[in-house]
Amino acid sequence: MQDFLDQDIKFLPGVGPKRAELLNRELNIYTFRDLLYYFPYKYVDRTRFYTIREISPDFPMVQIRGTFVNFSMAGKGNSRRLIGLFSDGTGVLEVVWFRGLKWITQSIKPGKEYVLFGKPTLFAGKLNLVHPEIEDSAVRENQVNTALQAFYSTTEKLKENFLSSRAILKLLNSLIRLASGKITETLPLWLVEKYRLMPLYDALVQIHFPENADQLARARYRLKFEELFYIQLNILLQKNLRSKRKNGFVFSSVGEFFNTFYHRHLPFELTGAQKRVLKEIRKDLGSGFQMNRLLQGDVGSGKTLVALMSMLLAIDNGYQACLMAPTEILANQHYKTLCRFLGDMPVNIELLTGSTKPAVRKRIHQNLRNGTLHILVGTHALIEESVQFSNLGLVIIDEQHRFGVAQRARLWEKNIQPPHVLVMTATPIPRTLAMTLYGDLDISVIDEFPPGRLPVKTIHLRDSARLRLFGFLKKEIEKGRQVFVVYPLISESEKMDYKDLEDGYESFVRAFPPPRYSVACIHGRMKSEEKEETMQYFARGQIHILIATTVIEVGMDVPNASVMVIESAERFGLSQLHQLRGRVGRGSEQSYCILVTRDDLAEDALKRIEIMTRTSNGFEIAEEDLRLRGPGDLEGTRQSGIPFELKIADLAQDGKLLQYVRDIALEILKEDPLLDQPRHQLLKAGIRAQNKNRAYWGGIS
Ligand code: ADP
Ligand code: MG
Repeated sequence: MQDFLDQDIKFLPGVGPKRAELLNRELNIYTFRDLLYYFPYKYVDRTRFYTIREISPDFPMVQIRGTFVNFSMAGKGNSRRLIGLFSDGTGVLEVVWFRGLKWITQSIKPGKEYVLFGKPTLFAGKLNLVHPEIEDSAVRENQVNTALQAFYSTTEKLKENFLSSRAILKLLNSLIRLASGKITETLPLWLVEKYRLMPLYDALVQIHFPENADQLARARYRLKFEELFYIQLNILLQKNLRSKRKNGFVFSSVGEFFNTFYHRHLPFELTGAQKRVLKEIRKDLGSGFQMNRLLQGDVGSGKTLVALMSMLLAIDNGYQACLMAPTEILANQHYKTLCRFLGDMPVNIELLTGSTKPAVRKRIHQNLRNGTLHILVGTHALIEESVQFSNLGLVIIDEQHRFGVAQRARLWEKNIQPPHVLVMTATPIPRTLAMTLYGDLDISVIDEFPPGRLPVKTIHLRDSARLRLFGFLKKEIEKGRQVFVVYPLISESEKMDYKDLEDGYESFVRAFPPPRYSVACIHGRMKSEEKEETMQYFARGQIHILIATTVIEVGMDVPNASVMVIESAERFGLSQLHQLRGRVGRGSEQSYCILVTRDDLAEDALKRIEIMTRTSNGFEIAEEDLRLRGPGDLEGTRQSGIPFELKIADLAQDGKLLQYVRDIALEILKEDPLLDQPRHQLLKAGIRAQNKNRAYWGGIS
């Protein structure tokens, strides 16, 4: 009877076409199911009744039972109001309405018993309830029994159209009643029993109308369990399906290119972590299965080199490879780095970005198709329709969290036989998020830095101590070092932010005047040639201080820059601070990251700064970030988009449960890898239902 829940929301009594349209637009609620799975954001205890005598204005929400003694109008114009005297036998209070007066006078009857719920206030020395919720005592008896009243997020638009939290609760009240007996369990009975879960219908009732806190907790557990379980089962099933296909290109040999590079061009010894990761990758490439691997490694840990050597393996086996970066600057940088590493090796490598000239573009397209081009580096331009490879064998995505799952999927479609895929990310991802975002990928970690690196010293400096900063920078510049100064930029269009940047630039020029010092500015509004030129000057050491927006977050590799000053550091998120800090500490000198903040910091900002000064471990920072801000806000997940929306589970809080259900999913799949057994058919249906809303999920694997 699943079609019951699929019914259009406009058919629910009390909704109708107009409200349905609002629910569609404002809350994405289209069907009965959508409403049923629109969960409350908080609950308020409605078991307790207060007497008017005991109430004082400092109480939060109170609930009282009594009758209206009389009504009167007061005030004029804007302060015109209706006042009802409400008595419960222990005292009297005033109930005040400024709006909807007509409706109140017509429908509220003096002498009849009502339950009021609202926040007491004091006005002209008298206790007031302004616009409380009002319920007919008798009607209340008739409702789904609840001790905790649910509250739902709504919007101004909805409230204007009488769709308050309270109204949504009413709709749910009728929906729950209608749904009785019509909701089928979405988890197999054996699973529900084995893990002592609350049955689905009960859980849905309790989540909206909890009988008590305990039942609510059980309902939440059941719904979170199911949500996370299906995500994990889905991911892991996809992985199984993929490995069953055994249709990966086989890179069986380590050949000329790889060996020549390794023995003759590699300017240093690989770190142990790089060796280990390369071994993992080689094993995948030779296995006959398509590789889907996530390579995590902090900024500066040497991922680019691993990428290059993997691509050489592809070329050795007669395949093309591409490396895709999130920004043009980064693509450029990768291209140059790779060219430098390759030196005079006969590898054909090209760069393709949005600003590639048509003639060059044409040549690239040609050489891609005729197979003479070995490596293509670029931005999103690589996934354009017109870009056709002759035999793409390996795709490397330097994701830095900015590359969407959907975009990744498009690369898969470039070949009938899917290329091997390596996703590199510099922002370490908390484990829970990795399991969810990349749960179908195998994971490699570079957890070691190239030798000779001194950890960056991180210092917190308040605005009032700014003079000390200038003194310190002068000393560093005397030593021949260079400095980054970064200003926050919330969005490219925000004038305010540019003003900060410009003012900052001017004050630095005043403190560091030419000709002795050279200060330059770089930001996203500049033409890319201008940006490029400025970067070049800086890279050649002709600029002492580079004032920038976060455009330098990725892609700048200037080992001689030893100081990163972050202005208004309180406005940055943790992982962004970490990324920025990664721009220094690339040389052999001691480097510094100076976090300049306003003098008075809010608690959470102070916490972030403290974490930054305490640790430089990217994983630890990522975990803290998740804990402080929740996954919805986690940098990058917003841009790259979690491929699904979590309705109830919370990756920051439910890490244990996530691991638990992943293990359960693994256990089921171990016994029945493709869920073919009859007792697993419901699970398969559950996954299908989940995938219906995520068209591109299948493409990922
Ligand atoms: P990531 O891409 O992980 O941020 P990079 O690949 O840019 O790191 O490497 C950072 C720097 O370290 C580069 O200048 C690179 O040439 C250098 N590097 C990489 N691997 C090693 C190594 N094994 N020994 C010494 N230096 C290395
Ligand atoms: Mg890099």
